[in-house]
Amino acid sequence: MIDLADALAFVEATAQPLPPRRQRLLDACGRTLATGVVADCDSPPWDRAMMDGFAVRNADVAAAGAAAVELDVVVDLAAGDVTKLVIRDGTCARIMTGAPIPPGAEAVVPIECALDGTAGGHAGSRVKLADPRFRAGQHLARQGAAFRRGQEVLAAGTVLRAAEIGLAAEAGATHVVAAPRVRVAMLSTGSELVECDREPAFGQTRNSNGPMLAAAVSLLGGEPIPLGLAADRPEAIRAAVAQGLAADILLLSGGVSAGDLDLVPEIFRQCGVEKVFHKVRLKPGKPVWFGRLVRGDGEPDTLVFGLPGNPASSLVCFELFVRPAFQILAGRPRSDWHLPHVRARLLAPCKAAPDRPVYLPCRLARDGQTLVATPLPWTGSSDLLGMAGAEGLIALPAGGGRFEAGAEIDVVRRW
Ligand code: AMP
Ligand code: MG
Repeated sequence: MIDLADALAFVEATAQPLPPRRQRLLDACGRTLATGVVADCDSPPWDRAMMDGFAVRNADVAAAGAAAVELDVVVDLAAGDVTKLVIRDGTCARIMTGAPIPPGAEAVVPIECALDGTAGGHAGSRVKLADPRFRAGQHLARQGAAFRRGQEVLAAGTVLRAAEIGLAAEAGATHVVAAPRVRVAMLSTGSELVECDREPAFGQTRNSNGPMLAAAVSLLGGEPIPLGLAADRPEAIRAAVAQGLAADILLLSGGVSAGDLDLVPEIFRQCGVEKVFHKVRLKPGKPVWFGRLVRGDGEPDTLVFGLPGNPASSLVCFELFVRPAFQILAGRPRSDWHLPHVRARLLAPCKAAPDRPVYLPCRLARDGQTLVATPLPWTGSSDLLGMAGAEGLIALPAGGGRFEAGAEIDVVRRW
């Protein structure tokens, strides 16, 4: 049995980033860039109209001041249209947002500034413009104003969210070099278990950990690989473990405590998985097991977790131990490894344990500047109802005694 801080340090020291891989941009959402993205073009790629209106010479409109100016419309330019025609003094182009500014034009006068029914004026007609707020060069985006060809627009280490994917697309990156999607296999052990689409007979329990752990992996952006159920028989568990060891992370739930049928640690040993730790001073989650299968030859290890069978314990262990391992494999920066800790004021008393830290589901709210935590009704490690509504986990340090309402405590913010 080890302390929580030591267990977390072991996880952090054991997990290593997976080797980055070249992948399609469209498949890379949520991944961490290993190589920066360099733009193959300027943005905007040319001077671009930013309003629907008329592309004009500065002097023509400026000279008119508050009065109107009449100009000949010489060309119509919708987005996508280009022209070699030069806009000279006394003329203008009808132009729509997104079209390149034609040669000679220097600003755009919005269509709303056209007077006397000339707003609809196309090539060959005259338009009458009055723009009292006119500024030279207005309503166009200059070539390269946002970024330049050859500029690194996304640095290594950036997590690709929607804006970053869009930017990479604009910069011409059809592929990126990024951390691969972390594959996480999950196996639920226990002869009492039935899949959740079945009606459990007396003595049977629905497999809630399988769907729950798959969801937790999906929420992190990983690929869940559900291995289903294995009864408490060594051959059944061994066969599924052998299959699951092909993943980057293997999660087992159940069978790691000290009961007669807690076969998992011995099976891990037989499968060549090296133990890093077993049992952590923690409530809930004490029986948790962690190890790795070393493959050598530059191949990444498979990290293996034996999570407690009780669903709430399993979830707490996922959030405390599996999450940082996953984030490290995914190449995430250290600031993303763990759920954030915040300080909050307790609204109702809670009981600490003498020998280990305690985690309790709570709701979080603001009271002026302070966060306040309300413990949720919760019957313990098999109770998912309290966990389901939780916005955080109150983390009480070991030492026993009661924390009274009003006490300042640590809360792990919602996953
Ligand atoms: P174990 O860790 O195998 O001793 O299991 C502890 C408790 O968790 C027992 O009541 C099990 O029936 C229950 N349990 C184990 N695995 C699951 C699971 N996948 N889904 C729901 N409950 C489970
Ligand atoms: Mg069991």
